[in-house]
Amino acid sequence: MIIAIDGPAASGKGTLAKRIGAHFGFPVLDTGLLYRAVARDVAAAGQPLDDVRAAAEQAKRLDPASFDDPSLRGGEAGDAASIVARIPEVRAALLDYQREFARRAPGAVLDGRDIGTVVCPHANVKIYVTATPEIRAKRRYLELQTRWLEGAPPAPTYEDVLADIVSRDERDAGRTAAPMKMAADADLLDTSDLDIEAAFDAAVGLIKRKIGQ
Ligand code: C5P
Repeated sequence: MIIAIDGPAASGKGTLAKRIGAHFGFPVLDTGLLYRAVARDVAAAGQPLDDVRAAAEQAKRLDPASFDDPSLRGGEAGDAASIVARIPEVRAALLDYQREFARRAPGAVLDGRDIGTVVCPHANVKIYVTATPEIRAKRRYLELQTRWLEGAPPAPTYEDVLADIVSRDERDAGRTAAPMKMAADADLLDTSDLDIEAAFDAAVGLIKRKIGQ
């Protein structure tokens, strides 16, 4: 059983995916981490992020053991990820790992941009999670504020966060290779007016309806 959760940056899809995985007892793959890790490895090798050969090479030798690297979190790593994610050779090199994960018994949850459209077009459940850019930016901004530590560089302003979200949406939706989009057979979950509990309840309701529970 495969649950595909797609959506734009800061839509809350990662939190939802983790909660859904815990609820149903399924492992969860945050596929954004793969692209973030490729970008990290390209930069560490001293290559530009849009170097097709360098990025494809790093994608082929990606080490999943390195996904819990704290440097992969945050807006900057996400931006870098969206640059390597435009390269078709990078996407192709990451497909097998994602599809193998999706085959895990008794089921798996994958979250990303193209899970329902490209990685797992036959997923049993597809949810496209979104919210307005302003609401996503506000949530991300508040989250960054609570994580801000004394002595750390200044946290980005709300305007910075909003600009980052809008430019990442444009890059992800506008690329030719596996652009971010809702699959024709996905259910839309707009969380603009929902808190995490309500969004989780709505997602579980959708899943149960789909699998006939
Ligand atoms: O979801 P997250 O913000 O971690 O993703 C970082 C970037 O990786 C996205 O902006 C997108 O460019 C890319 N990505 C992708 N396909 C996925 C997951 C992430 O292209 N399935």
